[in-house]
Amino acid sequence: MLKPLKHCSRCILPETAPNIAFDEKGVCNYCRSYQNFEYRGENALARILNRHRNPQKKYECIVNISGGRDSAYALLKVKKDYNMKLLAVNYENPFTDTQAKKNIKNMVKTLDIDLVKFKLNSQIHETCFRNNLIAWFKNPSPAMVPMMCIGCKIIWKNILQIAKRYDISLIINGGNPYEYTSFKKELLNVSREADLKSTYLKNLTGLVKESLKNYLYLMPQYLPVLFKGYLFSNQYSIGSRLYSRNIERIDLFHFIRWDEKDIVSRITKELKWDYPRKLKSTWRFDCKIGHLKDYMYIKTLGMTEKDDFYAKMVREGLMTREETLSRLERENEIHLDIIKEIFTQLGLSTKLIST
Ligand SMILES: [Zn+2]
Repeated sequence: MLKPLKHCSRCILPETAPNIAFDEKGVCNYCRSYQNFEYRGENALARILNRHRNPQKKYECIVNISGGRDSAYALLKVKKDYNMKLLAVNYENPFTDTQAKKNIKNMVKTLDIDLVKFKLNSQIHETCFRNNLIAWFKNPSPAMVPMMCIGCKIIWKNILQIAKRYDISLIINGGNPYEYTSFKKELLNVSREADLKSTYLKNLTGLVKESLKNYLYLMPQYLPVLFKGYLFSNQYSIGSRLYSRNIERIDLFHFIRWDEKDIVSRITKELKWDYPRKLKSTWRFDCKIGHLKDYMYIKTLGMTEKDDFYAKMVREGLMTREETLSRLERENEIHLDIIKEIFTQLGLSTKLIST
C-alpha cells in the first residue's frame, strides 16, 4: 500500500508541493510566508468606473467572459450593480465545455448585453496545443503543464483590438486573486509571493528555459505563437501595455472581495448559470483542458491547482482545513472521459493516457 501523503497542519498542501518545507509544528513554508490579499476597495473601483462613464458612447467597458463562475459574476456585477454600458467579449476556445457555452448564451440574454465572439485564425490554438501535448507526454514535467494553455496566452491582442474597434477605454476581468497558483511559480523558480504584474516575464523566461530541455516545444512553426504568448500573455504583459496605452485594464476581484458562496448563489439565481453536476466542482470546468492539467499534475506532483487554490482559501480564513480536505477528496477526481474527448478531437491516440 502507498504511504499516505503528509499535509501541512495549517493549509493542507501535500509534501509533494514544489520546494515545500515543514517546521516542527508541521506548518509549511508557503503558509509562513503568506501575505493576505489586500483589496483596493469598492470606492476605488467606483472612481475608475466613473472615469469611464460617457453618455456619448455606446459602450463604456468590456467584460471578458468564459462561461465560468467568476467572469459570470463580473458581468452581473458591472451591469446590474454598477450600471455600466458594457460589451461582453468571449474567445471561442475550441475546448469550451458545453455547459459554459449555455451559460454565456443565458447570461447575455438575461442581462440584455451585446456579445462579441472571436476565434483565432487557422486553428492555431488546436495545432499548437496538440504539439505541446505530444511534447509533454514525451517527457512529462509539472513545470511544463502551463504550456497547455498557450492558446489562451495569445488572445489578449484580439481583445485589445475589439476595444479599439468599439472605442472602449476600460476592460474588466473576473480572475480571482487566490487562483494565481503559487506552486507553478516555484516549479519555475519564481517566488511564490510574486504577483501577476511582476512575474509574467520571469514565468515566461522559466518556461522558455524548460522548453530548451525538450526541443519538441520549440518547433519552428510554433515559435511565432510562443513569441506572441510572451508579449500578450496577460493584461499586464509588455505587448498588452504597449498596444493599449489608452485602455485601462482591471480585475474586479482586486477591488471587491471574492466570495465563493455569494458568487455561485447570485449567478445561479440571477443568470441561470450552472455547472456540469458530474464534476462536483464549480471551478474551472469552462475549458476542457483544465481536466487534462489536473491529470498531468496528479501524475507528476500528486496534487492539482485546486490544492494550491484551496490552501490559499484556508490561509485567508475562507474555508476550514476539514472542509478543504473533504472538497479535495471529492473534486480532485480525474475525468478520463473528458481527457479522451480532447485526444479524439485532436486526432490523437488515447493510448498515451494511463489510468
Ligand atoms: Zn501550509
